[in-house]
Amino acid sequence: MEKFDNSVYEIIERAEVKAQNIFKELDKIALFNQEKVLDAFRKEEIAERHLKGSSGYGYGDIGKEALCKLYADVFHTESALVSPLIANGTHALTITLFGLLRAGDTLYSVSGAPYDTLQGVIKGTGGSLREYGINYKETALKNGEFDYDEIRKTLKGDLTIKVVFVTRSRGYSERDAFSSKKIGEITSFVKGINQNLIVFVDNCYGEFCDYYEPTDFGVDILAGSLIKNIGGGIAPTGGYIAGKANLVEDCANRLTAPGLGNEVGSYIIGYANYFEGLFLAPTVVRNAIKGSVLVAFALQELGFETTPKADSLCNDIIRSIRFNTKEELISFIQTIQQYSPIDSNVLPIPYDMPGYEDQVIMAAGTFVAGASIELSADAPIKEPYIAYLQGGITYEHVKIALRGILKHLING
Ligand SMILES: *Cc1c(COP(=O)(O)O)cnc(C)c1O
Repeated sequence: MEKFDNSVYEIIERAEVKAQNIFKELDKIALFNQEKVLDAFRKEEIAERHLKGSSGYGYGDIGKEALCKLYADVFHTESALVSPLIANGTHALTITLFGLLRAGDTLYSVSGAPYDTLQGVIKGTGGSLREYGINYKETALKNGEFDYDEIRKTLKGDLTIKVVFVTRSRGYSERDAFSSKKIGEITSFVKGINQNLIVFVDNCYGEFCDYYEPTDFGVDILAGSLIKNIGGGIAPTGGYIAGKANLVEDCANRLTAPGLGNEVGSYIIGYANYFEGLFLAPTVVRNAIKGSVLVAFALQELGFETTPKADSLCNDIIRSIRFNTKEELISFIQTIQQYSPIDSNVLPIPYDMPGYEDQVIMAAGTFVAGASIELSADAPIKEPYIAYLQGGITYEHVKIALRGILKHLING
C-alpha cells in the first residue's frame, strides 16, 4: 500500500469534517431518489423476463417497454424513450431537435450557447438543422442567470420560435448549473408568454443531483446520455428522451422511421445493465458528488479556487479547478489517470483535437469507454489553467486519487 506524508492524510481528514453538512444533504437526496427509482420498479412489477433482450424487428420487446416506463415514472412524464440504439447524449438531443422542429421553425436557446457538440447539429454541414430550413437564435446568460427581459422581447418578436432550449449543466463553462426549480421558473415565464412553446432541456450531467428533475416543474421534454449519471456507471451505451407523450412519439419516429416509432428496435444482449444502472444511479451520483466536494475542500485549503465553491450544493457532477501553472494542471490530469482502475499505466499528454483551438489533455481510465460518470478529468491547455473533474462511481476511489493529487501539489 502506498504511503503518503501525514500532511496529506490530515488535509483529507479536515476536508471530510468540513464536508459533513453537505454530505448529509447529499445522503438525503440519494435516499429520496433511490426511493423514487425503487417505487418505479415496484409499480412496473419489473421481473427477470424484462432483463432479456430481443432480436430482429424487436416487436413486443417487453424489456425495452418496461425500461421506457421506468424512465417515464422517474421523470414524472407521460412517456419516455430509452435505447442502446441512441449512440450518446448528442444523438439523443439531435433526435429530439429533429423530432420536434420542421422547416421554417426556430430553435431558441435561452441559456447561451448549447454544448459544443450541438454547434454542428444546429448550423454545421452534413445535415444540420439549418440545412433543413430550421433557424436558430440564442440569448446569452446575464451574470449566470436567464436574461428575462431579452427573452421576453425575443419571444414576442419572433413567432416562428417553436422550441425553447435550456442546458441544465454548466458543461465546460464557468457558470453554475441550473437547479430544476430555476429551470421551472424560466419554463413558467416562457409559457406565460406563449402556452404553445415547447420547453426542451439538455439534462446531461444533471440527473439525481437534486430531489427534482426539470420535468417536475413543467418542462415538456428532456434528453440525456446513459454513460453519464443515469446509467449508474453500468449502462454500456445509449441515451434517453422523456416528456409529453405526443412529443416523445415524434422523437421515436425520428429515431427509427415515421409510423414505426418505438415499435421496432431490438437489442439481443438484453437490458439487465440498464435496469441495474438506473437502480444504482442515485447512489452513484451521490458518491461522485461527495468525492467532488471532498476534492474541493482539500484544494481550497491549499489555496485553489473551484467552481462550484466547496461549500455549495451542486446541480451537476462537474467541478472546475483553477491551477496556477500549466505544470500543475497537467500533473493533476495525469494523477487522475494514474489512480484509475483501467489504463493506470497510460500517461495522458496534451494533444490537438478537431474542433478545439487549444491542445487538450484528458484522463479517462474507465470501464465504459469515455463514461464521465466514472472518475475522469480534462482540460484545455490555456490560461487560466482550469481542469474539469467529474464522476467517481465510489467515494473511496476519489478519496484515494485525492491523496495522489495532494502529494504532487505539496511536493511538486
Ligand atoms: C455530455 C454532454 C452532452 C452530450 O455529450 P455526448 O458526449 O454526446 O454524450 C450534451 N450536453 C451536455 C451539457 C453534456 O454534458
